[in-house]
Amino acid sequence: MADHASCPLCSTDVGHVIWRGADFRLIRAEDVLLPAFYRVVWTAHVAEFTDLTALQRMSCMDAVTLIEQTLRARLQPDKINLASLGNVVPHLHWHVIARWRTDAYWPQSAWSAAQREADTAQLDALRARLPAVDAALAEAFSARFGAN
Ligand SMILES: [Zn+2]
Repeated sequence: MADHASCPLCSTDVGHVIWRGADFRLIRAEDVLLPAFYRVVWTAHVAEFTDLTALQRMSCMDAVTLIEQTLRARLQPDKINLASLGNVVPHLHWHVIARWRTDAYWPQSAWSAAQREADTAQLDALRARLPAVDAALAEAFSARFGAN
């Protein structure tokens, strides 16, 4: 595992922070082609989901679930992608990504080669909706996990 000192998730927020607690933070990745791309980043520098206790795993999945529910309710995407990879940055984080059939990577993953040109009008329309999504997420996280 990469050491703590050289880990980007330990040293920086890596995205727009929506909510932060003791155990984890919620960020919106600033992804150009997939704007509704959120991450739960565990605070401690651990690599694997099974490095967490059972209660911590439940809390982490609660967070992932809250994001998915909020994205579905607010954005009605064609699909939600959940992923925890960590091959590049072995510090536990979950990706929660709202996907559309028209997005640049569909039907491939967010880490694949782009399949088509991005529709800039659709991206702009989606970006315009994100401040309300971020606010709803912050409210849901504060209600579930405590004040920001
Ligand atoms: Zn780390």
